[in-house]
Amino acid sequence: MTTTDHPDDAYRALGERLRGALLRPGDDGYDDARTVWNARIDREPAAIARCTGVADVVAAVDVAREHDLRLAVKSGGHHVSGAAVCDDGLVIDLGPMDGIRVDPETKTARVEAGATWGDVDHETQAFGLAVPGGQDPNIGVAGLTLGGGVGWLSRKYGLTSDNLLSADVVTAEGELVHASAESHPDLFWALRGGGGNFGVVTSFEFQLHAVGPEVFAGSLIYPAGETREVARYYREFVADAPPEARLLFGSMHLPAKPYFPEAIHDTRVAIIVAFYAGPPAEGEEVLASLRARGDPLMDSLRGRPYAAFQRAGDSQGSRRTDLRSQYLATLSDPAIDTLVAYAEDAPSPGATVFVSPRGGAETEPPSDATAYAHRDAAHHLLIEARWDASERDDEHLTWVRAFHDAMAPYTTGDVAMNFLTDDEGRERVRAAYGDNYNRLAEIKAAWDPENLFRGNQNVEPTG
Ligand SMILES: Cc1cc2nc3c(=O)[nH]c(=O)nc-3n(C[C@H](O)[C@H](O)[C@H](O)COP(=O)(O)OP(=O)(O)OC[C@H]3O[C@@H](n4cnc5c(N)ncnc54)[C@H](O)[C@@H]3O)c2cc1C
Repeated sequence: MTTTDHPDDAYRALGERLRGALLRPGDDGYDDARTVWNARIDREPAAIARCTGVADVVAAVDVAREHDLRLAVKSGGHHVSGAAVCDDGLVIDLGPMDGIRVDPETKTARVEAGATWGDVDHETQAFGLAVPGGQDPNIGVAGLTLGGGVGWLSRKYGLTSDNLLSADVVTAEGELVHASAESHPDLFWALRGGGGNFGVVTSFEFQLHAVGPEVFAGSLIYPAGETREVARYYREFVADAPPEARLLFGSMHLPAKPYFPEAIHDTRVAIIVAFYAGPPAEGEEVLASLRARGDPLMDSLRGRPYAAFQRAGDSQGSRRTDLRSQYLATLSDPAIDTLVAYAEDAPSPGATVFVSPRGGAETEPPSDATAYAHRDAAHHLLIEARWDASERDDEHLTWVRAFHDAMAPYTTGDVAMNFLTDDEGRERVRAAYGDNYNRLAEIKAAWDPENLFRGNQNVEPTG
């Protein structure tokens, strides 16, 4: 602390500078504002600044820096690490800043940092436009974009961060800067995959693309006993699929929802979700060979609104969660065998495994074109468990971690920063930035030498 005052004095001073509310423990809305998607994270900040604009963010950064407060930055609150909240310190909550302005002429959108992907899809689809974004409508635009960001459109149009044209950033010094290819290009490079290390982004400008409003998409569902064969259907189809086609293959438990046939309610199944980023009739033709494989229990592939398809990925709020992300160079038969064995041993309905293909525009740029380093892997693997009772923590943590270790021989050793949990060590944090770590550390030293923004997947300043 640079002054002799009590932290409460700092928070009182901050409250006077804010247009938005400063929530303290016991205030209405405090518990909602500190809740994140992973319910295993239960942190109690000393104060939460519900920022309504850049001026509030500048005030909060100034007070945090001047009083050496522990700091967290929250947008959608969906990062599994729970880095969006901290114990005791100050949370900069961008939730109220969710304005979006679409320019249909230039096919661009300016999106404030508190917006979610559901918000973005809603506004952009009104003009038949979209940017690759998250597969759950409640995910924050900010965290996903800063970590790279992958969505159904990525094989065609690249990572979310590849579509970033510029960003407004409040720096550790409390100054507002505009980062783009022309303005502070080092910072702009770092923001596209380097996470929240360099400042608080207050808004993003994206390049949009003509998408939908109707796309060809849906699910193919098979008995769990056929998971091995279904993995091969996936592997064979994605090996030479056009960039418009994207699949997700996995093992999951189907809930008792009216859109699934009753006979398969509450059962574990093998599933392929398929999507085509082009005219629906073309998608139907391209996906025909995939649909002809095996004998699915359900085939829901059809023309449907892109925004509705995106909304269907809703992961239904905050639950206890553990997960591990890895990249696979190939999906070999032994890797499939291991995946099937662990899927058969899933501890509860919330335990899932999903594999998605890379390729196309997503992996075309060189790995140092932006801070996002992992342009080479062929598939992304996500092992995830969600449950409610804390007494069941051990069995779920054991399953996720044993599964992860068993898959290790088939992986590249890299990890997506957007899926790093808070208990993975420095080695995995460095692996998340790959060969770009050293350059990120130099840029960090230029923009945040005191590491004010360290409550994240941290790049430590060097130099
Ligand atoms: C159900 C679910 C589905 C997912 N699907 C996808 C997917 O399809 N594709 C994909 O790429 N990822 C996906 N993810 C991962 C997702 O990209 C990350 O969890 C992402 O960090 C979430 O962003 P957020 O704004 O909600 O996170 P938050 O938890 O609010 O923030 C995440 C990190 O970014 C920092 N941060 C947040 N806002 C700012 C800001 N404005 N300025 C500076 N730093 C900031 C935070 O401090 C924190 O370290 C998914 C996650 C979940 C839970």
